Amino acid sequence: MQFADLIVAWQKTHGRHHLPWQKTRDAYKVWLSEIMLQQTQVATVIPYYERFLATFPTINRLANASQDEVLALWAGLGYYARARNLHKCAQTVVSDWQGIFPRQAQDIMSLPGIGQSTANAIAAFCFDAKTPIMDGNVKRIFTRYYGIEGQTNKREVEKRLWDQAHENIELASKDLDMPAYTQGQMDLGATICTRSKPKCNVCPLQASCYARRENRQAELPTPKIKKTIPVRSVKMLVLQHQDRILIQQRPEQGIWGGLWSLPEFQSEQELLTLQNDWQQTRQTAIKLAAFEHVFTHFKLHIQPYWLKCPHLSLREENGNGSKQQWLPLDRLETTALPAPVLKLLQGVHQFSGMEDLPGS
Ligand code: SF4
Repeated sequence: MQFADLIVAWQKTHGRHHLPWQKTRDAYKVWLSEIMLQQTQVATVIPYYERFLATFPTINRLANASQDEVLALWAGLGYYARARNLHKCAQTVVSDWQGIFPRQAQDIMSLPGIGQSTANAIAAFCFDAKTPIMDGNVKRIFTRYYGIEGQTNKREVEKRLWDQAHENIELASKDLDMPAYTQGQMDLGATICTRSKPKCNVCPLQASCYARRENRQAELPTPKIKKTIPVRSVKMLVLQHQDRILIQQRPEQGIWGGLWSLPEFQSEQELLTLQNDWQQTRQTAIKLAAFEHVFTHFKLHIQPYWLKCPHLSLREENGNGSKQQWLPLDRLETTALPAPVLKLLQGVHQFSGMEDLPGS
C-alpha cells in the first residue's frame, strides 16, 4: 500500500472521529476550525469553536457582527490577527461570493488570512479536492519518514516537502478518500508521530520509515536555530473606581490590535501626570507584582500599578484617540481583553475588597 492509502486505512480505524468540526462538510465551519487550530491545541479550541458557532451560526451573521463582538469571543485564544482576518474574510465571502464559500483552493487562498495549507485543507475536507496540506504535523511525519534534512522553514526544504505531498496523492489509489487522508495526517502527527517519544511500534508507516530504521526520530525534523528573543517593557495602570476598571481600546495595528487593555506609560513622571489627571486626592499608585508574557518574537515585561480613582469620568483624548470605558469587574470574561491583562484584572477582582493589593 502507498503512503496515503496506509494513512487512510489507519485513520478509519484509529483516527479521531468525534471532534465537533468533523460532523460537518460546511466550509464555514471547517474554515473556522482550521483558523482556530493554527498554533492552538484541540482541547483549547473546542469550547471556543462551540461558543463562536452558537453566536455566529452562519457566515452572514459573522460578517454582520462588530469587530468588538468577534474579538470578545476570541479573547484568550491569542494571535488576534486571526480573529480580525476571520471577520474580514467573512465580509469578503458575503460581498464577493454571495455568502457562499468558494470551492477551488486557489480562490479560497485569495481570502484574507488563509494560506495555501489551510485553503487546501478546506478544499479537501469539504469538496474532496486532491489538494495536500503542509502543517507542522505533516512536516514532522514527512521529514522522519523520508529522511528529509534541513530546517523546514527553508525554501528548498519546503519545496521538497510540497513536491512529496503532491506525489503522495498522485501515487495513491484513484478513489483516495481526501477528508480521511487529510484528517489522518493531522491525527497521526498529534497522537503517534509526536514531537517527543513517537509511538513507532503502532505507526502504520513503520515498515518503511527512515527515522525508525536509522533511529533518528529525535533528530528529525532538523531543529530550528533558537534565537534569543528581545524583551520589551511596559508599565500599565489599573485605575479602579469601586467595582470598575478603566480600559481603553488599542489601535488596529500592533500587538493586541483592536482589543481592550489598560492605559500604558513609560516613566514615573508619566505615572505622576496620569495620577494627577485621574484623581483629586493625593494617593500614590501601588506597584503590583511584575510579570512576563511571551510572544513569538519578543517577551513583554509588564509592570502594573494600581490606583483608586474617586470619579467616573472619561478622557476624550488620551494621546492616541482610542476609546475608553469603565468596565465592571464581573464582565472581564466577556470582554476582548488580552490574556495577560485578563489574568492581571482577575487578580485585582479577587482582591478588590481589600484596602491594599498585594504588591511586588
Ligand atoms: S515510524 Fe515513528 S518516526 Fe516514522 S512516521 Fe511513524 S511514528 Fe513517525
